[in-house]
Amino acid sequence: MTDPLHTIEHGFCDPLQDKPNLLGLSMPRLVEFMQTLGEKPFRARQLMKWMHHRGILDFEAMTDISKVLRQRLARAAVIEIPEVVHEHVSADGTRKWAIRLRGGSMVETVLIPEGQRATLCVSSQIGCSLDCSFCSTGKQGYQRDLDAGEIVAQIWLANHALGVYREGGKRQITNVVMMGMGEPLMNFDNVVDAANLMMDDMAYGLSKRRVTLSTSGVVPAIEKLIGKTDVSLAISLHAPNDRLRNELVPINRKYPIAELLRATRRYMENLPDNSRVVVIEYTLIDGVNDLDQHAHEMVALLRDVPCKINLIPYNPFPLSDYKRPSSNRVDRFKRILLQAGYIATVRSTRGDDIDAACGQLVGRVVDRTRRNERYRTRQQSNDSIIKAVT
Ligand code: SF4
Repeated sequence: MTDPLHTIEHGFCDPLQDKPNLLGLSMPRLVEFMQTLGEKPFRARQLMKWMHHRGILDFEAMTDISKVLRQRLARAAVIEIPEVVHEHVSADGTRKWAIRLRGGSMVETVLIPEGQRATLCVSSQIGCSLDCSFCSTGKQGYQRDLDAGEIVAQIWLANHALGVYREGGKRQITNVVMMGMGEPLMNFDNVVDAANLMMDDMAYGLSKRRVTLSTSGVVPAIEKLIGKTDVSLAISLHAPNDRLRNELVPINRKYPIAELLRATRRYMENLPDNSRVVVIEYTLIDGVNDLDQHAHEMVALLRDVPCKINLIPYNPFPLSDYKRPSSNRVDRFKRILLQAGYIATVRSTRGDDIDAACGQLVGRVVDRTRRNERYRTRQQSNDSIIKAVT
Protein backbone atom coordinates (compact mmCIF):
# COMPACT_ATOMS: atom_id res chain seq x y z
CA MET A 1 0.00 0.00 0.00
CA THR A 2 1.40 3.43 -0.91
CA ASP A 3 2.28 5.63 2.04
CA PRO A 4 0.19 8.81 1.89
CA LEU A 5 3.16 10.66 3.40
CA HIS A 6 4.85 10.22 0.06
CA THR A 7 2.32 12.67 -1.31
CA ILE A 8 2.76 15.12 1.58
CA GLU A 9 6.52 15.22 1.26
CA HIS A 10 6.13 16.33 -2.29
CA GLY A 11 3.67 19.08 -1.46
CA PHE A 12 0.66 19.33 -3.75
CA CYS A 13 -0.31 16.40 -5.92
CA ASP A 14 -0.80 18.34 -9.08
CA PRO A 15 -0.89 22.08 -8.58
CA LEU A 16 -0.78 23.13 -12.21
CA GLN A 17 -3.57 21.03 -13.66
CA ASP A 18 -7.15 22.10 -13.54
CA LYS A 19 -8.54 18.88 -12.11
CA PRO A 20 -11.05 18.67 -9.26
CA ASN A 21 -9.61 17.96 -5.82
CA LEU A 22 -11.79 15.08 -4.63
CA LEU A 23 -10.91 15.73 -0.97
CA GLY A 24 -13.24 18.74 -0.86
CA LEU A 25 -16.25 17.18 -2.61
CA SER A 26 -19.32 16.40 -0.53
CA MET A 27 -21.01 13.05 -1.10
CA PRO A 28 -23.62 14.43 -3.57
CA ARG A 29 -20.87 16.20 -5.53
CA LEU A 30 -18.66 13.15 -5.55
CA VAL A 31 -21.60 11.03 -6.77
CA GLU A 32 -22.12 13.58 -9.58
CA PHE A 33 -18.44 13.45 -10.45
CA MET A 34 -18.46 9.63 -10.59
CA GLN A 35 -21.54 9.78 -12.83
CA THR A 36 -19.58 11.92 -15.31
CA LEU A 37 -17.21 8.93 -15.51
CA GLY A 38 -20.22 6.62 -16.03
CA GLU A 39 -19.82 5.10 -12.53
CA LYS A 40 -22.42 4.13 -9.91
CA PRO A 41 -22.94 6.11 -6.65
CA PHE A 42 -21.38 3.36 -4.49
CA ARG A 43 -18.02 4.20 -6.06
CA ALA A 44 -18.27 7.63 -4.41
CA ARG A 45 -18.73 5.95 -1.03
CA GLN A 46 -15.65 3.81 -1.62
CA LEU A 47 -13.58 6.88 -2.50
CA MET A 48 -14.81 8.80 0.55
CA LYS A 49 -13.77 5.98 2.87
CA TRP A 50 -10.31 5.68 1.31
CA MET A 51 -9.65 9.43 1.57
CA HIS A 52 -11.20 10.40 4.89
CA HIS A 53 -11.37 7.19 6.95
CA ARG A 54 -8.14 5.56 5.86
CA GLY A 55 -6.16 8.63 4.83
CA ILE A 56 -5.18 7.21 1.44
CA LEU A 57 -4.43 9.81 -1.22
CA ASP A 58 -3.04 7.63 -3.99
CA PHE A 59 -5.66 6.12 -6.33
CA GLU A 60 -3.30 3.20 -7.02
CA ALA A 61 -3.58 2.10 -3.37
CA MET A 62 -7.41 1.89 -3.48
CA THR A 63 -7.48 -1.85 -3.92
CA ASP A 64 -11.24 -2.44 -4.05
CA ILE A 65 -11.48 -0.24 -7.16
CA SER A 66 -10.60 -1.80 -10.52
CA LYS A 67 -7.24 -0.94 -12.04
CA VAL A 68 -8.92 0.60 -15.11
CA LEU A 69 -11.05 2.93 -12.98
CA ARG A 70 -8.05 3.88 -10.81
CA GLN A 71 -6.20 4.95 -13.94
CA ARG A 72 -9.18 6.94 -15.20
CA LEU A 73 -9.48 8.66 -11.81
CA ALA A 74 -5.81 9.58 -11.86
CA ARG A 75 -6.29 11.18 -15.28
CA ALA A 76 -9.47 13.06 -14.31
CA ALA A 77 -8.89 14.22 -10.71
CA VAL A 78 -6.44 14.78 -7.89
CA ILE A 79 -6.50 14.28 -4.14
CA GLU A 80 -4.53 17.26 -2.96
CA ILE A 81 -3.13 17.92 0.52
CA PRO A 82 -1.21 21.10 1.38
CA GLU A 83 2.28 20.94 2.79
CA VAL A 84 3.10 21.41 6.48
CA VAL A 85 6.08 23.76 6.48
CA HIS A 86 6.39 24.36 10.19
CA GLU A 87 5.20 22.76 13.41
CA HIS A 88 5.38 24.24 16.88
CA VAL A 89 4.58 22.05 19.87
CA SER A 90 3.81 23.86 23.10
CA ALA A 91 4.80 22.63 26.55
CA ASP A 92 1.07 22.10 27.25
CA GLY A 93 0.65 19.82 24.20
CA THR A 94 -0.92 22.42 21.89
CA ARG A 95 0.34 21.95 18.34
CA LYS A 96 0.35 24.68 15.75
CA TRP A 97 1.06 24.08 12.08
CA ALA A 98 1.90 26.56 9.34
CA ILE A 99 0.53 25.07 6.13
CA ARG A 100 1.57 26.17 2.65
CA LEU A 101 -1.31 26.25 0.16
CA ARG A 102 -1.47 26.33 -3.62
CA GLY A 103 0.24 29.54 -4.75
CA GLY A 104 2.65 29.50 -1.81
CA SER A 105 0.70 31.43 0.88
CA MET A 106 0.34 30.02 4.36
CA VAL A 107 -2.37 29.56 6.96
CA GLU A 108 -2.39 28.17 10.49
CA THR A 109 -4.11 25.21 12.06
CA VAL A 110 -4.03 24.65 15.81
CA LEU A 111 -4.69 21.42 17.71
CA ILE A 112 -5.63 21.75 21.38
CA PRO A 113 -5.71 18.47 23.29
CA GLU A 114 -7.59 18.61 26.59
CA GLY A 115 -8.43 15.39 28.45
CA GLN A 116 -10.57 13.28 26.14
CA ARG A 117 -11.10 16.18 23.73
CA ALA A 118 -8.92 17.16 20.81
CA THR A 119 -10.12 20.45 19.34
CA LEU A 120 -8.89 21.61 15.96
CA CYS A 121 -9.04 25.30 15.08
CA VAL A 122 -9.11 25.62 11.28
CA SER A 123 -8.53 28.56 8.93
CA SER A 124 -10.88 29.50 6.11
CA GLN A 125 -9.12 32.39 4.35
CA ILE A 126 -5.56 33.50 3.70
CA GLY A 127 -5.54 36.70 5.74
CA CYS A 128 -8.79 38.55 6.34
CA SER A 129 -10.38 41.73 4.98
CA LEU A 130 -12.36 42.67 8.09
CA ASP A 131 -9.46 44.20 10.03
CA CYS A 132 -10.67 43.81 13.61
CA SER A 133 -8.46 46.14 15.63
CA PHE A 134 -7.15 43.45 18.02
CA CYS A 135 -6.41 40.74 15.44
CA SER A 136 -3.03 39.68 14.12
CA THR A 137 -4.54 38.03 11.01
CA GLY A 138 -6.46 41.22 10.14
CA LYS A 139 -3.14 43.10 10.00
CA GLN A 140 -1.95 40.80 7.19
CA GLY A 141 -4.71 41.86 4.78
CA TYR A 142 -6.77 39.49 2.63
CA GLN A 143 -5.27 37.29 -0.08
CA ARG A 144 -7.83 34.65 -1.03
CA ASP A 145 -10.42 32.14 0.16
CA LEU A 146 -9.51 28.54 0.91
CA ASP A 147 -11.41 26.01 -1.17
CA ALA A 148 -13.36 23.25 0.58
CA GLY A 149 -10.53 20.75 0.01
CA GLU A 150 -8.01 23.07 1.67
CA ILE A 151 -10.28 23.50 4.70
CA VAL A 152 -11.00 19.78 5.07
CA ALA A 153 -7.32 18.96 4.49
CA GLN A 154 -6.57 20.59 7.85
CA ILE A 155 -8.46 17.77 9.61
CA TRP A 156 -6.78 15.20 7.41
CA LEU A 157 -3.34 16.58 8.34
CA ALA A 158 -4.20 16.67 12.05
CA ASN A 159 -5.49 13.08 11.93
CA HIS A 160 -2.32 12.09 10.15
CA ALA A 161 -0.19 13.79 12.81
CA LEU A 162 -2.18 12.03 15.54
CA GLY A 163 -1.55 8.68 13.92
CA VAL A 164 -5.24 8.06 13.18
CA TYR A 165 -4.41 6.61 9.75
CA ARG A 166 -1.68 4.34 11.08
CA GLU A 167 -2.41 1.02 12.65
CA GLY A 168 -2.83 1.51 16.38
CA GLY A 169 -3.29 5.29 16.14
CA LYS A 170 -6.23 6.00 18.43
CA ARG A 171 -6.57 9.71 19.18
CA GLN A 172 -9.17 11.41 16.99
CA ILE A 173 -10.20 15.00 16.45
CA THR A 174 -13.34 15.37 18.58
CA ASN A 175 -14.20 19.05 17.94
CA VAL A 176 -13.62 21.53 15.15
CA VAL A 177 -13.89 25.28 15.53
CA MET A 178 -13.72 27.54 12.49
CA MET A 179 -11.96 30.28 14.36
CA GLY A 180 -8.59 30.29 12.67
CA MET A 181 -7.47 32.79 10.06
CA GLY A 182 -10.25 34.49 8.10
CA GLU A 183 -13.96 35.20 8.44
CA PRO A 184 -15.67 31.91 7.52
CA LEU A 185 -18.87 33.53 6.29
CA MET A 186 -16.97 35.66 3.76
CA ASN A 187 -16.10 32.29 2.14
CA PHE A 188 -19.63 30.94 2.37
CA ASP A 189 -19.90 28.07 -0.14
CA ASN A 190 -16.54 26.50 0.65
CA VAL A 191 -17.06 26.75 4.39
CA VAL A 192 -20.55 25.22 4.24
CA ASP A 193 -19.29 22.36 2.03
CA ALA A 194 -16.35 21.75 4.36
CA ALA A 195 -18.52 21.87 7.51
CA ASN A 196 -20.99 19.42 5.99
CA LEU A 197 -18.14 17.06 5.07
CA MET A 198 -16.82 17.23 8.63
CA MET A 199 -20.24 16.11 9.89
CA ASP A 200 -20.78 13.42 7.23
CA ASP A 201 -20.34 9.84 8.53
CA MET A 202 -18.71 8.92 5.22
CA ALA A 203 -16.02 11.53 5.94
CA TYR A 204 -15.18 12.65 9.51
CA GLY A 205 -18.52 11.93 11.20
CA LEU A 206 -18.30 14.72 13.79
CA SER A 207 -21.41 15.59 15.76
CA LYS A 208 -23.22 18.83 14.81
CA ARG A 209 -22.64 20.03 18.34
CA ARG A 210 -18.91 19.65 17.88
CA VAL A 211 -18.40 21.60 14.68
CA THR A 212 -18.63 25.32 15.38
CA LEU A 213 -18.56 28.15 12.89
CA SER A 214 -17.45 31.42 14.41
CA THR A 215 -18.41 34.69 12.75
CA SER A 216 -17.74 38.34 13.47
CA GLY A 217 -21.22 39.13 12.20
CA VAL A 218 -21.83 38.88 8.45
CA VAL A 219 -25.58 39.12 8.99
CA PRO A 220 -26.92 38.20 5.49
CA ALA A 221 -24.68 35.13 5.47
CA ILE A 222 -26.00 34.00 8.88
CA GLU A 223 -29.53 34.17 7.40
CA LYS A 224 -28.33 32.25 4.36
CA LEU A 225 -27.00 29.43 6.55
CA ILE A 226 -30.55 28.45 7.51
CA GLY A 227 -31.43 25.16 5.80
CA LYS A 228 -27.96 24.74 4.26
CA THR A 229 -26.21 23.37 7.32
CA ASP A 230 -26.89 22.87 11.01
CA VAL A 231 -23.40 23.51 12.25
CA SER A 232 -23.14 25.14 15.70
CA LEU A 233 -22.64 28.89 15.81
CA ALA A 234 -20.31 31.20 17.73
CA ILE A 235 -20.50 34.98 17.54
CA SER A 236 -17.34 37.04 18.03
CA LEU A 237 -19.00 39.87 19.91
CA HIS A 238 -16.11 41.49 21.84
CA ALA A 239 -18.13 44.59 22.83
CA PRO A 240 -21.52 45.18 24.49
CA ASN A 241 -22.51 48.32 22.54
CA ASP A 242 -22.27 49.62 18.97
CA ARG A 243 -19.98 52.50 19.79
CA LEU A 244 -17.24 50.24 21.13
CA ARG A 245 -17.90 47.42 18.67
CA ASN A 246 -17.62 49.80 15.69
CA GLU A 247 -14.09 50.45 16.89
CA LEU A 248 -13.07 46.84 17.62
CA VAL A 249 -14.99 44.96 14.90
CA PRO A 250 -15.48 47.35 11.96
CA ILE A 251 -18.07 45.15 10.21
CA ASN A 252 -20.38 46.28 13.02
CA ARG A 253 -20.76 49.64 11.23
CA LYS A 254 -22.57 47.77 8.48
CA TYR A 255 -24.40 45.19 10.62
CA PRO A 256 -24.96 46.56 14.14
CA ILE A 257 -25.41 44.40 17.22
CA ALA A 258 -29.24 44.35 17.19
CA GLU A 259 -29.31 43.00 13.62
CA LEU A 260 -26.58 40.49 14.43
CA LEU A 261 -28.43 39.11 17.45
CA ARG A 262 -31.71 38.98 15.52
CA ALA A 263 -30.11 36.89 12.75
CA THR A 264 -28.41 34.68 15.35
CA ARG A 265 -31.70 33.97 17.13
CA ARG A 266 -33.37 33.10 13.82
CA TYR A 267 -30.59 30.66 12.91
CA MET A 268 -30.75 28.99 16.33
CA GLU A 269 -34.58 28.74 16.21
CA ASN A 270 -34.38 27.01 12.83
CA LEU A 271 -31.99 24.26 13.94
CA PRO A 272 -33.62 20.81 14.07
CA ASP A 273 -32.77 20.46 17.78
CA ASN A 274 -33.73 23.37 20.01
CA SER A 275 -31.42 22.51 22.89
CA ARG A 276 -28.34 24.12 21.40
CA VAL A 277 -27.12 27.54 22.44
CA VAL A 278 -24.91 30.04 20.65
CA VAL A 279 -21.42 30.68 21.99
CA ILE A 280 -20.63 34.36 22.53
CA GLU A 281 -16.90 34.98 22.18
CA TYR A 282 -15.64 38.02 24.08
CA THR A 283 -11.95 38.95 23.99
CA LEU A 284 -11.13 40.91 27.14
CA ILE A 285 -8.75 43.80 26.46
CA ASP A 286 -7.25 45.71 29.36
CA GLY A 287 -9.03 49.02 29.94
CA VAL A 288 -10.94 48.81 26.66
CA ASN A 289 -13.89 46.42 27.09
CA ASP A 290 -13.20 44.72 30.43
CA LEU A 291 -14.80 47.14 32.90
CA ASP A 292 -17.69 46.32 35.22
CA GLN A 293 -20.00 48.56 33.20
CA HIS A 294 -19.25 46.43 30.08
CA ALA A 295 -20.12 43.25 31.94
CA HIS A 296 -23.42 44.81 33.12
CA GLU A 297 -24.19 45.91 29.55
CA MET A 298 -23.59 42.32 28.38
CA VAL A 299 -26.02 41.06 31.01
CA ALA A 300 -28.74 43.34 29.63
CA LEU A 301 -27.89 42.81 25.96
CA LEU A 302 -27.99 39.00 25.95
CA ARG A 303 -31.15 38.62 28.03
CA ASP A 304 -33.13 37.07 25.14
CA VAL A 305 -30.29 35.08 23.57
CA PRO A 306 -29.86 31.44 24.63
CA CYS A 307 -26.09 31.47 24.95
CA LYS A 308 -22.97 30.68 26.85
CA ILE A 309 -20.21 33.22 27.07
CA ASN A 310 -16.59 32.42 26.42
CA LEU A 311 -14.21 35.05 27.79
CA ILE A 312 -10.82 35.17 26.11
CA PRO A 313 -8.05 37.16 27.80
CA TYR A 314 -6.33 39.08 25.02
CA ASN A 315 -3.11 37.61 23.55
CA PRO A 316 -0.82 40.56 22.75
CA PHE A 317 1.23 40.50 19.54
CA PRO A 318 4.00 42.84 18.34
CA LEU A 319 1.96 45.27 16.19
CA SER A 320 -0.71 45.83 18.82
CA ASP A 321 -0.91 48.36 21.65
CA TYR A 322 -3.62 46.43 23.49
CA LYS A 323 -2.81 44.57 26.68
CA ARG A 324 -4.06 41.48 28.45
CA PRO A 325 -6.13 42.28 31.57
CA SER A 326 -5.07 41.03 34.99
CA SER A 327 -6.57 37.76 36.16
CA ASN A 328 -8.43 39.70 38.89
CA ARG A 329 -10.16 41.79 36.23
CA VAL A 330 -11.06 38.68 34.20
CA ASP A 331 -12.48 36.98 37.31
CA ARG A 332 -14.51 40.06 38.21
CA PHE A 333 -16.00 40.30 34.71
CA LYS A 334 -16.87 36.62 34.78
CA ARG A 335 -18.43 36.88 38.25
CA ILE A 336 -20.85 39.60 37.11
CA LEU A 337 -22.05 37.36 34.28
CA LEU A 338 -22.36 34.30 36.53
CA GLN A 339 -24.30 36.26 39.15
CA ALA A 340 -26.76 37.30 36.44
CA GLY A 341 -27.34 33.61 35.64
CA TYR A 342 -25.21 33.19 32.50
CA ILE A 343 -22.90 30.30 31.81
CA ALA A 344 -19.53 31.99 31.45
CA THR A 345 -16.13 30.39 31.08
CA VAL A 346 -12.64 31.77 30.65
CA ARG A 347 -10.71 30.19 27.81
CA SER A 348 -7.58 28.73 29.33
CA THR A 349 -4.49 30.22 27.80
CA ARG A 350 -3.01 27.48 25.70
CA GLY A 351 0.14 27.37 23.64
CA ASP A 352 1.43 30.68 25.01
CA ASP A 353 4.96 29.65 24.13
CA ILE A 354 4.02 29.12 20.45
CA ASP A 355 2.72 32.51 19.31
CA ALA A 356 -0.79 31.93 20.56
CA ALA A 357 -2.44 34.89 18.80
CA CYS A 358 -4.09 33.75 15.58
CA GLY A 359 -1.95 34.60 12.54
CA GLN A 360 1.24 35.10 14.51
CA LEU A 361 2.97 31.87 13.56
CA VAL A 362 2.42 32.45 9.85
CA GLY A 363 3.72 36.01 10.28
CA ARG A 364 6.91 34.68 11.85
CA VAL A 365 7.44 31.88 9.33
CA VAL A 366 6.98 34.40 6.47
CA ASP A 367 9.43 36.81 8.17
CA ARG A 368 11.96 34.05 8.59
CA THR A 369 11.54 32.89 4.96
CA ARG A 370 12.07 36.48 3.79
CA ARG A 371 15.13 36.79 6.04
CA ASN A 372 16.51 33.56 4.50
CA GLU A 373 15.81 34.89 1.01
CA ARG A 374 17.60 38.16 1.81
CA TYR A 375 20.52 36.17 3.25
CA ARG A 376 20.71 33.99 0.10
CA THR A 377 20.57 37.04 -2.17
CA ARG A 378 23.33 38.71 -0.13
CA GLN A 379 25.43 35.53 -0.28
CA GLN A 380 24.98 35.28 -4.07
CA SER A 381 25.98 38.88 -4.59
CA ASN A 382 29.03 38.42 -2.28
CA ASP A 383 30.00 35.32 -4.30
CA SER A 384 29.83 37.25 -7.57
CA ILE A 385 31.93 40.09 -6.11
CA ILE A 386 34.53 37.56 -4.92
CA LYS A 387 34.54 35.88 -8.36
CA ALA A 388 34.95 39.26 -10.07
CA VAL A 389 38.00 40.24 -7.99
CA THR A 390 39.78 36.85 -8.12
S1 SF4 B 1 -10.96 38.55 14.23
FE1 SF4 B 1 -11.63 37.20 12.58
S2 SF4 B 1 -12.94 38.50 11.30
FE2 SF4 B 1 -11.73 39.91 12.59
S3 SF4 B 1 -9.91 40.39 11.33
FE3 SF4 B 1 -9.37 38.62 12.63
S4 SF4 B 1 -9.78 36.84 11.33
FE4 SF4 B 1 -10.87 38.59 10.43
